[in-house]
Amino acid sequence: MIVMQTNVRNNSNMTTDSNVLKMKTALEQALDNEEFVLYYQPQINVETAKVSGVEALVRWNHPKLGLISPDKFIAVAEKTDLMGRLGQWILKRACRQNQVWKNQGLPPLIISVNLSLFQLQDPNFRDMVKEVLEETKLPATSLELEITEAIILANPEMVHQTLLNLTQLGVYLSLDDFGSGYSCLNYLSKLPFGTLKIAQSCIKNLTKDYQNISLVSVILAVGKTLDIRVVAEGVETQQQLDILKNLHCPEMQGYFFSQPLTPDEVTQFFALSQSSTR
Ligand code: C2E
Ligand code: MG
Ligand code: MG
Ligand code: MG
Repeated sequence: MIVMQTNVRNNSNMTTDSNVLKMKTALEQALDNEEFVLYYQPQINVETAKVSGVEALVRWNHPKLGLISPDKFIAVAEKTDLMGRLGQWILKRACRQNQVWKNQGLPPLIISVNLSLFQLQDPNFRDMVKEVLEETKLPATSLELEITEAIILANPEMVHQTLLNLTQLGVYLSLDDFGSGYSCLNYLSKLPFGTLKIAQSCIKNLTKDYQNISLVSVILAVGKTLDIRVVAEGVETQQQLDILKNLHCPEMQGYFFSQPLTPDEVTQFFALSQSSTR
């Protein structure tokens, strides 16, 4: 009885074993029925007013419930072995989409794909990425893989080695949600990250007090010192944009510029914003 109460209080009902299993079966069927879709959110270089990349974000387009956000199902996929299959599907779809845009005449674009711990723990992960790049004929330098600090902390040595192996393929690496956890400068100097993403929580608090401005300013300085590209995430307001501009943050992503878009909407977005660079 006590255990049940604790379960209910701590988490949603998705955490009980039988619910995880039900969800796993539902997710497997969703994969078979091709119910997952990728949306793409542009990253903007505000100095040049050009798109510097797009981040692929998965959604489950449920036939009855409509679009379901990744926060609702990635954790379950991660707990079961489904994340391997789902992650491979996401990577392949994102790489293929990048080629489709290229064939449509869009300027060369770097696509960012979020990774999970489950994928990085797979000893065959590097080979899988290599195969997807070969199959989709996407140059490795058009792909960036996003990893959160939490993933590194879960198994620093293993993740370090896997990330080094991945960069040997020529893909870029990005450290996601920086500033939301321990924010160890250690990883940044040791691991070959090309991009650092300032966490939404830091950007949200920018207008609250001066300490948060200082924090973002330090992150930007670190990026500059280590020659790492810095992208501010979750920029929603003109006020946030103005503060970030004053801090000389060149690249931003967030609803202020664009929501995550369908592939066709990305094409239209490019028609309006001309071209891309990085
Ligand atoms: P993330 O990688 O940090 O992605 C950014 C999230 O912030 C996305 O939520 C995006 O839609 C949202 N966002 C963008 N701009 C704004 C803004 O201005 N304001 C606010 N409030 N939110 C904004 P989304 O798509 O729901 O994804 C949530 C998280 O789920 C992602 O965080 C990522 O950790 C994970 N995720 C998403 N797609 C994938 C995937 O394909 N694979 C894996 N392993 N994880 C994924
Ligand atoms: Mg991300
Ligand atoms: Mg993030
Ligand atoms: Mg996140």
